[in-house]
Amino acid sequence: MMAVMETKKKPILGIVVPCYNEEEALPDSAEALEKKLKDLIQKGAVSEKSFVLFSNDGSKDGTAAYLNQICHKNPHFYMVDLVKNVGHQNALLAGMQAAAEFCDCVITIDADLQQDIEAMDAFLESYQKGFEVVYGVRNDRSSDGFFKKMTANAFYGLMHILGADIKSNSADYRLMSSGAVRSLSEYGESNLFLRGLIPYMGYPSDTVYFDVRERQKGSSKYTFSKMLTLAMDGITSFSDRPLKLIGSIGVLMFIFSLGMILHSVITYFLGANQPGYTTTVISIWMVGGILMISMGVLGTYIGKIYSETKRRPRYQIKATILPGKAEKDEQSDQ
Ligand code: UDP
Ligand code: MG
Repeated sequence: MMAVMETKKKPILGIVVPCYNEEEALPDSAEALEKKLKDLIQKGAVSEKSFVLFSNDGSKDGTAAYLNQICHKNPHFYMVDLVKNVGHQNALLAGMQAAAEFCDCVITIDADLQQDIEAMDAFLESYQKGFEVVYGVRNDRSSDGFFKKMTANAFYGLMHILGADIKSNSADYRLMSSGAVRSLSEYGESNLFLRGLIPYMGYPSDTVYFDVRERQKGSSKYTFSKMLTLAMDGITSFSDRPLKLIGSIGVLMFIFSLGMILHSVITYFLGANQPGYTTTVISIWMVGGILMISMGVLGTYIGKIYSETKRRPRYQIKATILPGKAEKDEQSDQ
């Protein structure tokens, strides 16, 4: 008799972990990941060919050396080593693309394991049900500081107002089938915002809720400027409403100025025209301000067009340790 559980063959899972200056967090994380992987293999949830793939995002500390060491020691550990720091999103993409060649599905998770690794079981159950994309959504933000909470809420609020289809509080903790990763590779945008792009692809998807804990080791690698860049990429890649808003403001201003002309002509004929210094100064400043804002928004989009048209590779690989343990140096353009 066939076991009832055996509905689909055991998938090969690739857990992808982006790492930027994570030497402090990695020893604990690697141990926990190995334990989780063995646990999943033992339970029969995934194939014994499953692995963890670290994507070293141009770390400046001992991360690369540490990863090299553990990847040589542990048959379940692999890595791609990027030439320079290209940011979380691109490092994720590099890891997913490398992993997808050797597995059926990938799960991405941060190197500090702030996301609950126990949720992986639920991700895999959804995958077995046929979902090619499974989003991890955090239960609450109680483990975040006030600033992070506020900026995150402002960001998701703004994204919704601007009409971008992203899940609130979704982290980059998600499962994707290798097929979905290959489709993702066909989107060539340089300004990568996975949280927007993956829902946009439209694969049948499911949601898994998970808890977030505080970072145990090391400090956040998301500086304020990295956070701002991510938010700007998110907004400008998935919404052209700011551009349309400028148009609407322009129309309103035009109507307003018609009223002003009418008003001054009437007052002129009534002989009651004021010297009007105040209104003039206010108008100049107001118009100036609106023009500056508009130019700023236009500039942002033009900047995007500029970087997209250059079609530069999103990352370059310096070295890899991949299944087969064949270590090779290569220059890969993605
Ligand atoms: N990260 C990366 N490249 C960067 C910045 C961050 O690969 O330029 C990785 C980092 O190593 C971690 C993940 O992205 O695995 C999330 O970063 P972090 O935990 O510092 O962000 P936070 O949890 O504070 O938002
Ligand atoms: Mg973190």
